Amino acid sequence: MALEQYIRDIVDFPKPGIIFKDITPLLASPKGTEECLQLLINSLKEKQIDKVIGVESRGFFFATLLAHHFNAGFIPVRKPKKLPFETISASYELEYGTDTLEMHIDAIQPGDKVLIHDDVLATGGTAKAVCELVKQLGGEIVQVNFLMELSFLNGREKIKEYDIFTAINY
Ligand code: IMP
Repeated sequence: MALEQYIRDIVDFPKPGIIFKDITPLLASPKGTEECLQLLINSLKEKQIDKVIGVESRGFFFATLLAHHFNAGFIPVRKPKKLPFETISASYELEYGTDTLEMHIDAIQPGDKVLIHDDVLATGGTAKAVCELVKQLGGEIVQVNFLMELSFLNGREKIKEYDIFTAINY
């Protein structure tokens, strides 16, 4: 089955006018999850990875699977005031206003080879903010990968200096 078939479109969620890509059918399928995971792994050709970042919250699922595969540490990036230890932060523009993401200050050591993972690449604001967090701590970004990309929003442009891989393209 093509991976697209595991993604469900939810009309008008979370707001009217938005078609939300729901990954829960993919997560509920061991076969779909395995296929998707292998695509992400193969794109990295057994490169060395020290840390895998998962972006709250839907980025956590595959980021932990990837971290396990690469024998790397898993690092959560979260919304403000969720992480218990000292944090660094990066902000990004939304349609109305700004949003902020945080990471623990000791999450990455200078020179660490870092893989960033999130479920969806839309406008690219989130991914760019995460790249800035990694750069603040001196990490080297090996790849930024996603389960899917809404390519009509051209989010790639914001992180074009990095290797980008997406399992599904819309
Ligand atoms: P961006 O910052 O505009 O690229 O939005 C990406 C962030 O929004 C990711 O963390 C996604 O989890 C979330 N996101 C945007 N659109 C969708 C969607 O259709 N389904 C699930 N998550 C989405």
